[in-house]
Amino acid sequence: MLVVMEKGTTEQTVQATVNAIEKRGYTARPIPGGDRVSIGILHNKGSIDAANFLGLEGVKEVIPVTKPYKLVSREFKQENTHVKVGNAVFGNGSLPIIAGPCAVESESQVLSIAKSVKEAGAKLFRGGAFKPRTSPYSFQGLGKKGLEFLAKVREETGLPVVTEVMDVENFDLVEEYADVVQIGTRNMQNFSLLKRAGKSYRPIILKRGMSAMLQEWLMAAEYIMEEGNNNVILCERGVRTFVRHSRNTLDLSVVPAAKKESHLPIIVDPSHAAGVRDQVISLAYASAALGADGVMIEVHNNPDEALSDGAQSLYPEQFFTVMEKMTAIHKIIEK
Ligand code: PEP
Ligand code: MN
Repeated sequence: MLVVMEKGTTEQTVQATVNAIEKRGYTARPIPGGDRVSIGILHNKGSIDAANFLGLEGVKEVIPVTKPYKLVSREFKQENTHVKVGNAVFGNGSLPIIAGPCAVESESQVLSIAKSVKEAGAKLFRGGAFKPRTSPYSFQGLGKKGLEFLAKVREETGLPVVTEVMDVENFDLVEEYADVVQIGTRNMQNFSLLKRAGKSYRPIILKRGMSAMLQEWLMAAEYIMEEGNNNVILCERGVRTFVRHSRNTLDLSVVPAAKKESHLPIIVDPSHAAGVRDQVISLAYASAALGADGVMIEVHNNPDEALSDGAQSLYPEQFFTVMEKMTAIHKIIEK
């Protein structure tokens, strides 16, 4: 249920409405909109009688919410959410690009890649310090040392950094170093991790689970928002299908579908969807054409010797061209 207030309602009246809702045993969550405030009612079991709130001062209308997710839904908030990181904004129609290696391998590696991607126009740098690997024998990431190298990247280039958190145990540490904390596909339904992310002061990139339906993904985002963190960016990274010609299948249609259901920004990661470089390039162009709110791409200065995901990492020169063309495509879409 959504209680929509009249335009220009005072803070005191909003607070009085919140109190009236909470007195009945529900949770009330004010959601500032364009020119008026709405109040979402959470934690109700069963339906709520709209008549309870319709007569209150300042209440314009009471709208039943038909979706299982609430805070993430367009029913609750019609305007797009803008997530600001450094001088990038996700969700305002721009196309900020996040680029960098799959994993942080050394200080010189990240600094070299960061300089190239910044020159090409990337707004944020990515790199994993804690890596979720299929095999326990594969490179697991540099951990804290990797985070320190990311801090060095930020210091030297000014680029905000995005890095993955794999567990609640390391959340405090990752949050301290990262400008944006990423939750990977394998953890999309790690509910304790989602709840911790909801208490974070950092924006969260929530990747889609590799076989998650849109509704499950949005419910995962709801866990984060329910704990109070409104800065959530969804990231489509391909889903598992029967095909063998690519690592995963990039679900292009989920972008317009998610935008219809939710006000949250949605970005696309063509690298983990494709798994191979030539396809990453085509899918990056498709992502720009889709009207996505950003693109995340893996770039490596020496992909042939990368410790993870070398085959899908672009060479810095390739990334330059991809940036130029994505920018041109985005200009057409913007009109
Ligand atoms: C990553 O972005 O480094 C990553 C591991 O991606 P995903 O969780 O989408 O596999
Ligand atoms: Mn990777």
